Amino acid sequence: MDRRNPGLANERGQFRVRASKGIHLVVPRDRIRSSTGIILRTDKSVLFVIPWGRHWIIGTTDTDWALDKAHPAASQRDIRYLLDQVNSVLRAPLTEADVEGVYAGLRPLLAGESADTSTLSREHAVGHSVPGLVVIAGGKYTTYRVMAKDAVDEAVHGLGQAFDRRIPNCMTQDVPLLGADGYRALWNARHQLAAESGLNEARIVHLLNRYGSMIGEVLGLIGDDPALGRPLPAADDYLRAEAVYATTHEGALHLDDVLCRRTRISIETFDRGTDSCREVADLMAPLLGWSAEHRAREIEHYLARVAAERESQTMPDDETADGARRGAADIIAVGSPLS
Ligand SMILES: Cc1cc2nc3c(=O)[nH]c(=O)nc-3n(C[C@H](O)[C@H](O)[C@H](O)COP(=O)(O)OP(=O)(O)OC[C@H]3O[C@@H](n4cnc5c(N)ncnc54)[C@H](O)[C@@H]3O)c2cc1C
Repeated sequence: MDRRNPGLANERGQFRVRASKGIHLVVPRDRIRSSTGIILRTDKSVLFVIPWGRHWIIGTTDTDWALDKAHPAASQRDIRYLLDQVNSVLRAPLTEADVEGVYAGLRPLLAGESADTSTLSREHAVGHSVPGLVVIAGGKYTTYRVMAKDAVDEAVHGLGQAFDRRIPNCMTQDVPLLGADGYRALWNARHQLAAESGLNEARIVHLLNRYGSMIGEVLGLIGDDPALGRPLPAADDYLRAEAVYATTHEGALHLDDVLCRRTRISIETFDRGTDSCREVADLMAPLLGWSAEHRAREIEHYLARVAAERESQTMPDDETADGARRGAADIIAVGSPLS
């Protein structure tokens, strides 16, 4: 076996990872009368009801998933489970009609002997089975810097002792997040920022929460073009400038990058972004050089994605939900000159 052959990366590594699906529901804040978040014990695990902007997030489920890993689908059973759990402590029960958004994700769990995903480890592991290839598996969001450090340490170790000694120690624990540096001073100056920009203070607070000390870049866009200071139609928590900033500064290439990833409009509105997608496309088009046909394709794809997600959420189980979600192809797969 040639251990330098990059083709070896195609082999399955030494780790076995199991995918565990977890779904969350988003409901408007006025649907649950509580001044604090709620943690409930369930048969298998816990359920969180978390205040989030003008919404509550309710989650989560924890079930094995062996279907489409690119698009885990929430079924009606998943949604019903969460509603039943939360309704057990609510005076005014929630129904499907209260659900603004649903999202599903997969936890990458290092596989062990247990059949039950809720008991599998949330830890990560790093391996270096082939020279030049470091593999990291498992892990979670709150430990991402430790994960990165462990992976880089492993790569450095693989370079041999001569390099090992020349590479300084990791200092990730002292590196502020992007937008953290100077944030507190700007927070103190929020009244002034509002007065100077002409935006109301709630907007400034929203922008500070999203961009931290990078807020000046977003306000700069509005300074150059005051029309960008208007809210997006049907998603008025967000300014038009935020769709532009997502495209010019945050690498968004497609409508779903802006509506699902840079903002969360797709889960924060009952229409799931279908009423704002045309204007977002209008804002993105000149920045990315889209033709009228390209713009139309982006919109069509986004609407198909929302329709497939909605349909999957009416399906009784994982298999039927997966079948419905597969109805919408990825915009990358259907072809885009920019992807
Ligand atoms: C149900 C659930 C509960 C969790 N709970 C916790 C918790 O309590 N604590 C914790 O620390 N961690 C938790 N995690 C884990 C945490 O969510 C992940 O560790 C974290 O999100 C990983 O971040 P990431 O940026 O690496 O990947 P992701 O968050 O998965 O981001 C990757 C992004 O890339 C996008 N993408 C993928 N392919 C493409 C492409 N080709 N083009 C454009 N975009 C693409 C995806 O849509 C996605 O938005 C949970 C995960 C799940 C599923």
